[in-house]
Amino acid sequence: MEKIRMTTPLVEMDGDEMARIIWKQVRERLIEPFIDLKTEYYDLGLLSRNSTEDRITAEAAKAAKKYGVAVKCATITPNRKRMEEYPELTRMWPSPNGTIRSIMGGTIFRTPIVTNSIKPAVRSWKKPITIARHAYGDVYRAVDMRTDEPGECILRFRGESGKETTLSVQKTNGPAVFQAQHNLDASIRGFAAACFRYAVDLRQDLWFSSKDTIARTYDGRFREIFEEEYEKVRPEFESLGIKYFYTLIDDAVARVMRSEGGFIWACKNYDGDVMSDMVSSAFGSVAMMSSVLVSPDGGYEFEAAHGTVTRHYYRWLKGEKTSTNPVATIFAWSGALKKRGEKDCLPALEEFAERLEKACRETLADGIMTRDIALLSDRTENYVSTEEFLSAVAERLEP
Ligand code: NAP
Ligand code: MG
Repeated sequence: MEKIRMTTPLVEMDGDEMARIIWKQVRERLIEPFIDLKTEYYDLGLLSRNSTEDRITAEAAKAAKKYGVAVKCATITPNRKRMEEYPELTRMWPSPNGTIRSIMGGTIFRTPIVTNSIKPAVRSWKKPITIARHAYGDVYRAVDMRTDEPGECILRFRGESGKETTLSVQKTNGPAVFQAQHNLDASIRGFAAACFRYAVDLRQDLWFSSKDTIARTYDGRFREIFEEEYEKVRPEFESLGIKYFYTLIDDAVARVMRSEGGFIWACKNYDGDVMSDMVSSAFGSVAMMSSVLVSPDGGYEFEAAHGTVTRHYYRWLKGEKTSTNPVATIFAWSGALKKRGEKDCLPALEEFAERLEKACRETLADGIMTRDIALLSDRTENYVSTEEFLSAVAERLEP
């Protein structure tokens, strides 16, 4: 069988622990036999980040910017406990995802991988709901203050021109707390543009929600910018038959619950934090959630939403078989290959990516599943190991 050719390399970012073990297996068993795989490889495993003083992460992100499509394995973000576990670490290196995002910019979209084997907790949901979370500002960059005595809190803006604007936040008779938040037009606009672009990519409606009846100026600005960005893509939306829809956050929540899914929901930072956990847990397993970072200049970085699955890794190190779900990792690869195929006009690559996803769905539909999914579908005792699952997918991939 002739392997499918690629023209531009994928930027491949390797990672840590069980995710790294699965990464290699997916690559060797499901990708390499079928594709003449071209990648530019960056080892973002913790020890490699340490020995390069984390330069490898920045280099990988720059490569992703250059080539436009990257696929990333889950990585350890060190904390105090990890510093004890890996005494060779010279610093508590920052989160690779944070570094990559600060270099590539953009918005993260999280989509559940929907199969017939898992029934969502919300009965009406038939298609995935993608959450786009604005990852800048609001309460995450707010300043807080507390007072024990009566007084007045004042908000003041001093322009570079020297012009000042002040507002009384509140006069208080006793102890009180205050908070000031901000956001930037440029960040909101970048977020809106990424959402519209991704809606066109997926050919799905875009919903945006906020509370502009209360926060008239603040959320009102978000709504205005979304409308301005929508005007730029309106013809494309109309020709694809997709819609942009704005509603209040509480109304959005109610509608989401009654919907059948199949749209992108753009959320402000806090709403996205809360709603992405709600949507992902209602769809089932963390191991069935994919994540893609879309940058303003059209770059894509695909990954599984779950972490390095540490507990499974320590069992694997002891020689035990684990039943770690590789589906989100497989979908990160298929997403990246599909996008590479689309950018390079290689329909065979796109078709292969579709076939790979189909093979995963068929495997699950045939009742072959890892433990996390078995627990969700009342087949508690009937599950396979990671290797057995990958073999079943590989069998279904053979032409
Ligand atoms: P996690 O690795 O996602 O694992 C949490 C638990 O979820 C696991 O113990 C397992 O439950 C279940 N799980 C997750 N993925 C699974 C899969 N593919 N198959 C089956 N079960 C799965 O999260 P964590 O334990 O909070 O974090 C571990 C490390 O990952 C941390 O060092 C963190 O920094 C890193 N992390 C990286 C990323 C990223 O790179 N994008 C994201 C999140 C976390 P059971 O043990 O009950 O089976
Ligand atoms: Mg959260």
